[in-house]
Amino acid sequence: MNTEREALLQAIERDRDRILDFYRGFIRAKSPNPPGDTRAAAAHIGKLLGEESLAYRTIAPQSEMPNIVAAFDCAGAGRHLVLNGHIDVFPVGDAAGWTKDPWGAELVEGKIYGRGACDMKAGTSASIFTYIYLSRIRDRLKGKLTLTCVSDEETFGPWGARYLIEHHPEVHGDCLLNGEPSGLGTIRFGEKGPLWLLFTIRTAGAHGAYTHFSASATKIAGRLIAGLEAVGRIVSKAPDNVVRALDAAAPAVDAAMGKGAAAIVQQVTLNIGVVAGGLKVNMIPGECRIEADVRLPLGVEKDEVMREVRRIAAAFPEVTVEEINYSAPSWCDPYGEMVEILSANAKAVTGATPVPIVSLGGTDARLWRYKGVPAYVYGPPPSGMGSTDEHVKVEDFFQVVQTHLLSAYDYLSRG
Ligand SMILES: [Zn+2]
Repeated sequence: MNTEREALLQAIERDRDRILDFYRGFIRAKSPNPPGDTRAAAAHIGKLLGEESLAYRTIAPQSEMPNIVAAFDCAGAGRHLVLNGHIDVFPVGDAAGWTKDPWGAELVEGKIYGRGACDMKAGTSASIFTYIYLSRIRDRLKGKLTLTCVSDEETFGPWGARYLIEHHPEVHGDCLLNGEPSGLGTIRFGEKGPLWLLFTIRTAGAHGAYTHFSASATKIAGRLIAGLEAVGRIVSKAPDNVVRALDAAAPAVDAAMGKGAAAIVQQVTLNIGVVAGGLKVNMIPGECRIEADVRLPLGVEKDEVMREVRRIAAAFPEVTVEEINYSAPSWCDPYGEMVEILSANAKAVTGATPVPIVSLGGTDARLWRYKGVPAYVYGPPPSGMGSTDEHVKVEDFFQVVQTHLLSAYDYLSRG
C-alpha cells in the first residue's frame, strides 16, 4: 500500500473516537420520516464541516428537510466523484420490541444501536469523513469531489435527492458512491423497481343472507389476488453482463438478503400489502381496496407488467386499477471501474472480496443511474433495518469508512 493510503488509514485510526462520537451523535439527532424533519441531524453535519472550515450549501426546497451539498476541485484535471447518503430514517412508532433506546446510540458489546444505525447514518458518516480527509489532500488529487447529504429518502419523497438531481445538475458527476446497507460481502450495482398499484372493487352490496342480490367485493378481491400471481411468470430480458454477474453472485445474494433472495432477484414479485373491505360479518361488502407492491427486476418494462395486470383485471368488470407509485429498475455496469476499486479496497480492509449484486429494495442511487451515471452502494449489514434493535458493529462501521475513503482516493488519483 502506498504511503498516502497508509496515511489516510492512520488518520482514521487516530480519529477513531471523534468519528464514532460523530456517528453516535448523528443517531441521537432524531430524523424519522415521516414526519421527515431532519434539521437537527443536518445541523450535526454542518457543525462538523464548520469545524473543518469546509464550506457547504444548504439546499432546502422544504425548510424542515434540508439537503447539505459541498464540493471541492482537486489540483489536477480528472473525473467528478459524488458521495451520497440520506439523513432521514425510518420512524420507530412507540418503540415496541426495542430492547435499546432507539435514539440512544448505545454502545453494547461492540455494537452501536439505534434507528438509522445501519440505514444509513453509518454510510452517510463514511461519506462525510471521506469528504473531510480527501479535502485535506486535494492538492495531490485529480478531478472533483462532491458530498450530498439528503433528506426525504425513506418515503420516496420529492425534496431530497430527487430535487437535487432535477434542479442541481452540478451533483450528477461521473460516478456515485453511496453507503446504504449492503453487507460487506456485496456491492450493489442495481436495484429492482417498485410498482405500487391500487385496485378498487365495487359491487352493489347487500344483506349477508341475500347473496342472490349482489356479488361480493371481497370474494372478487380474493380471485383477483390469486390471478395477479401470474405477473411472476413475466420473463426478464436483462443484458448478458447483468445475468452473468447475478448468476455468479447467487450465494452472496442469499447471504446478504436471506436464503431465497437469489431466486427472486430476477423475478417479478407480488406483495399484497393492504386488503380493506367489509363492515360486518352479515353484510356483503360493496367495496374492497387492494394495494399491491409489484417489484420489477432488471430487464422488465412497466408497460409489459401493466398489460398483464390489465389482462388479469379484465376478467372482473367490477375492478378498477390505478398506479400509486413507480420507480423503474436501475443498473449500471456490474464490472465497472468503481466495482474493481471497491472490491480491492474491501479485500484489503476486510480480507474478503465483495461481489456485485442487485438490491431488492430501493435507494437514491437509482436517481443517478437514471441520468446515466454509474452508481454503486457499499455499506454495513442491514441488521434490524426498518425493524427493531437496528445496529451496526463498530468494526463494520470503521471498515465501511475505510473502504469508502480508500476507494474515493483511488478514483480521484487516477485522473
Ligand atoms: Zn436507506
